[in-house]
Formats: sequence, structure tokens, C-alpha cells
Amino acid sequence: MPSPTLAGGPLRWRRTPVHDETPLPAHLSTVVRPAVFIAKDGTLIENVPYNTDPALLRFRPGAAEALGALAANGWALLVVTNQSGLARGYFTRTQFARLQERLEKGLQQAADVALLDFLVCPHAPAPDGGPACLCRKPAPGLLRRAARRHAIDLASSWMVGGLLDDVEAGHRAGCRTLLLSDRGQSPWRHTPLRPPEAVCHDWAGVVRHILLTPPGMAPSAP
Ligand SMILES: [Zn+2]
Repeated sequence: MPSPTLAGGPLRWRRTPVHDETPLPAHLSTVVRPAVFIAKDGTLIENVPYNTDPALLRFRPGAAEALGALAANGWALLVVTNQSGLARGYFTRTQFARLQERLEKGLQQAADVALLDFLVCPHAPAPDGGPACLCRKPAPGLLRRAARRHAIDLASSWMVGGLLDDVEAGHRAGCRTLLLSDRGQSPWRHTPLRPPEAVCHDWAGVVRHILLTPPGMAPSAP
């Protein structure tokens, strides 16, 4: 699969394309923490397909404030996003890194929030639309990579996204999931991995649900 070009400037794409199968260091292996994994386009920011222009970046209503509230309650926050525009040659990693920088700066300014990590699948889907790699959602690779990297307890973590692919990826990783949708999603497709634990219509609902759900409650989906 084509490798995206790296043109000019330092790449702020932190810690992503690494050999991440390495076991956790012994001193970290027993320290685990819960996290909220967040989809980017249409969930954290308004969906502008394949956009890398920082000027077009808009947070979805209430998103920055919600992340602030979650962070204040001890949740680690990570973005997990499919960016097939890289494999398709629509934009470079450097261009995407600029957008990411604007996004992270925007969160900092709006709600004093710092993301723990920002994980990207740069691959194109298979011809049938499914993932052709281990990391394109609905595959769980990005979440698992993050868990290894940051000692995250997936079973007590949440995946928040606007697509059933986000939900399925969360369930495949062993997380609980929230579908953030104001569009009235159609009935679930045929797999038991796709119904979320709950559907929230706005970010305030996401925060309420996460903060009010007991920590030990296991995912209801398999
Ligand atoms: Zn991938």
C-alpha cells in the first residue's frame, strides 16, 4: 500500500507509525487507566470530507466543553480516526499534521484540554469497503495500540463516535460505546457488535452518560 509522503517540516504526528506490538514495560504493566476514545469527523469536529485546511475546522456544538468535563473527571482522552485520504493521495501527513495541530490547540484554548494521543489509520479500505488493515475502524487496531502504549484499561473505557463502524471498533476492542448522533440512525445492521450501549443526541448527553455509569459495568454487547 502506498506510503504517504513526508514533505517539509517536522511531523507532529506523535508516536503513531511505530512497532507497537512491544509489551508494556514491567513498571507500567499493572498501572491501567480508563479512557474515552473519540472519533474525529462528524463527532468531535464538523465533517468536511478530506479537509486539512485549519481554517475550515469547527468543533461540533458542546464538544470542547464536554472534553473539558471528562478530563476534569479523570478520563484520558484520545482521538481515533480513519484518514484514507492519506492512502488515496488527497493530502500528505504534513498537511494532516497541521490540521491536527489546530485541533489540539483549539481544544486547549476552548477548554484547557490536552489529548493523551491522536491515532490515525492512514490506509484505504478494501474494495468491498471493509478494512484492509488492522487499524481502520471498524477494526479495533487503533484502540488496542493506544491501550498498549498508554496502559489503558479497555473494559472500563468508552468509544464515542457518530458511525456504527465506531461502535463496532469499540466493541471489538472490548470497550463500552456511545453513538453520538443527531440524525436518528437507522436500525442496526445484522451483527451484535453494532448496537451501542446508548445513543446520545448531543455532547452533554455523552458526558452525563459516561459520568453516571458505574465504572465496573461491562459492555452489554459481546
Ligand atoms: Zn489502517
